[in-house]
Amino acid sequence: MVEHALIDQETLAARIADVKARIAEACRASGRSPENVRLVAVSKTHPAEMVLAAVAAGLTDFGENRPEEAVAKIAEVDARLSDDADIRWHMIGHIQSRKARLVVRRFSLIHSVDSLKLADKLSRLAVQHDRVLDVLLEMNVSGEETKSGWQAHGWDKNATLRESLWNDIQSILLLPGLRVHGLMTMAPIVPDPEMARPTFMALRLLRDALQSDFPDVSWRELSMGMTDDYPVAVSEGATIVRIGRAIFGPRETRQE
Ligand SMILES: *Cc1c(COP(=O)(O)O)cnc(C)c1O
Repeated sequence: MVEHALIDQETLAARIADVKARIAEACRASGRSPENVRLVAVSKTHPAEMVLAAVAAGLTDFGENRPEEAVAKIAEVDARLSDDADIRWHMIGHIQSRKARLVVRRFSLIHSVDSLKLADKLSRLAVQHDRVLDVLLEMNVSGEETKSGWQAHGWDKNATLRESLWNDIQSILLLPGLRVHGLMTMAPIVPDPEMARPTFMALRLLRDALQSDFPDVSWRELSMGMTDDYPVAVSEGATIVRIGRAIFGPRETRQE
């Protein structure tokens, strides 16, 4: 394991201010209100100290993509945080079925529910623990083969695909212990952030279609946008952006 270079408080505060300013600017340009965009700081690979520094700089929401790493870090942060600190953890990475029990207790929002099988498992665990889990459904709207999430590329043109997606979603909405709040996606890595726009737009249009076909659910949340493309995601309606490198700097270990 490589030693992490801790950045100083001032650098961290400046980076956070910069990200918030760019979110506000993208909101202004698209007629949205910045209060409707939640900033999730992606702390994966970074130690608890970094999270504590970010809390001191005013951040409240943190994203992790590996259940074991997250559980250990959350415990460490909790132990060192003052009692009145109110922070929320987001699970944003693929969850293997056998790791599902790790995410039942500690997360405010699970962004990465990517199959009916996982939803079913989480539902059973939630019921066992007498909890309701707040979740997003992860969609692969770009068609990239490496991405996890439901295959949803071209859902508006492919009736078979749409039917199978709608069936899965219908089943998930009937599961006890889960509360669906919206959708999540990852855009492809592209040289120009504008090239990610069709992916973000596709997620928004899919959300609109689900809202009209399943009107009893609040499909409010669109979790989309990362360091390289978040202003574009905000201009397409992101309500949650997940930002790692622009806040914490480059990661020493490569993940995703
Ligand atoms: C790592 C990660 C991010 C943050 O990526 P950056 O490019 O560092 O902003 C966002 N979402 C998911 C699902 C991730 O795994």
